[in-house]
Amino acid sequence: MVDKDLDDEQSLVVGGKRGGRFFNTDDRLLVIVPHSDDEAFGCGGMIARALAEGCRVKVLLATVGQVEFYHKGVVTEETRVDEFKRSMKTLGVTEYDILFPGKESFLDTIPQKEMIKAFDDQMEYMKSTMVFIPYPSAHQDHRAVFEAGFAACRPSADMTYRRVVAVYEYPYVVHAWQEVHGGGLYIDIEDYIDRKIEALKCHESQIRRENHLFSPETLRMWAEMRGREGGLKYAEYFRILRMVV
Ligand SMILES: [Zn+2]
Repeated sequence: MVDKDLDDEQSLVVGGKRGGRFFNTDDRLLVIVPHSDDEAFGCGGMIARALAEGCRVKVLLATVGQVEFYHKGVVTEETRVDEFKRSMKTLGVTEYDILFPGKESFLDTIPQKEMIKAFDDQMEYMKSTMVFIPYPSAHQDHRAVFEAGFAACRPSADMTYRRVVAVYEYPYVVHAWQEVHGGGLYIDIEDYIDRKIEALKCHESQIRRENHLFSPETLRMWAEMRGREGGLKYAEYFRILRMVV
């Protein structure tokens, strides 16, 4: 059951203090993330809540690889994988896969057909009832994963188990030229905001100073802002691309 917020046209506010359920105990969520840290930035609260409500959650990490930053220098692939595993543990996720290791920042060089097939196979394998894909932003990897994810979630008479396809955001959506159309979905994460922040902190090589977009402080403010929009204390915001009930 979903609590339809009639005051806020085209948006759903679900769970927590507002009542209503969005997740069923037999739901199987596939969360597709471009990089190690996007799961925490984007939907760490939702993941922790879905698990607490009895759902099965699998996180599919598109790639992880060595990166070089102005603020940190070289960060090895091994470090990033270790941070990802710690984040998974913090969120309570036991099912995850890494699809294309070593392709960080080069996901746009992988043929879309290959990526779509990989996503198709995962959905078919776990019979996903809900699929979450990233908002396309300035980062080419995020656009590649969004486009392949969008294609993989095409209408299919063979995938009648799939009832929700949604896009999650992360702070870099403030620098995106492409708008994703879809109904707004606010998921109450008041009980999971601390876990979300802890998961982000596992990515020590990725987090920045307090006034940066990619900081734990900003992430908390972001969830607070989305919460206020939805009449909640803390929320994560999604765009629903398809929903079948
Ligand atoms: Zn990313």
